[in-house]
Amino acid sequence: MEDVFAGYRRRHDYLICMDSDGCAMNTMEIKHRKSLAPCMVYEWDLGEYRDAIMRRWREISLYSMDRGINRFEALAKILVDVNENYKRVEDLDSLLNWVKTSKELSTDSLRREVERTGSPALKKALEWSELVNGSLKMISEKNKKPFEGVREALEAAEQFADIVIVTAASRTEIVEEWGYYDLLKHVGLVLTQETGSKEYCIGKLLEYGYQKDHAMMVGDSPIDQRAAKAEEVFFYPIMVWKEKESWEEFRNHALDKFREGTFAGEYQAEVEKEFVQNLTR
Ligand SMILES: [Mg+2]
Repeated sequence: MEDVFAGYRRRHDYLICMDSDGCAMNTMEIKHRKSLAPCMVYEWDLGEYRDAIMRRWREISLYSMDRGINRFEALAKILVDVNENYKRVEDLDSLLNWVKTSKELSTDSLRREVERTGSPALKKALEWSELVNGSLKMISEKNKKPFEGVREALEAAEQFADIVIVTAASRTEIVEEWGYYDLLKHVGLVLTQETGSKEYCIGKLLEYGYQKDHAMMVGDSPIDQRAAKAEEVFFYPIMVWKEKESWEEFRNHALDKFREGTFAGEYQAEVEKEFVQNLTR
């Protein structure tokens, strides 16, 4: 595979890793509502429970501590729910087992597993995932906008920090979405699901000589937070329903604190507390 890090240079002492879906770009709601959830209803023929399932999907994938989980993990959780409450799901254990044990939860690795096992549930999950990929392409870039204040935040941040996109979305999605709004020029590198986990990406970037207390992950999900903790860099949360305010705070206060060395301790704890409260209320 092509080495995405080839040619990358550290330009500043500070590093800001930035998630995309639900953080910089207002894409989560529409992707789940128009693609992931309805494709599941279609694939498992759940039309008569459509409303309840759509609601459950949104709760899990958007408005809980599971926000931002991998699509196959979300699928497994909801199919367990369906199996218990609505309709028997054939061969469910095969899917649960794959989700629990596979090192890579992607469409490609699922395809290999289907070829190896021929499991009906895995086959359906694969069809669903391909349907999702196809239908995501049909959502116009016009409906996948950056949140208000993101452009200004990027402009302020790039004055003293290198900005790198660190996301679990696919490279194609990111390049199209950020390219459409002419935001790629603020970014030194695009690291996606094809590069590896967020933790891995942050770790690789630190090898370029950024000190840990000069590095930060900006994200909207507990997964971003965990990746930041694992690599011992700061975490700045973009809060669901309060994205505009989060970006304002980032530009007006968080960036200065980061630069001046006062982000650690009280401020870090405060924004994290608010973040968790916002997702669990
Ligand atoms: Mg996100």
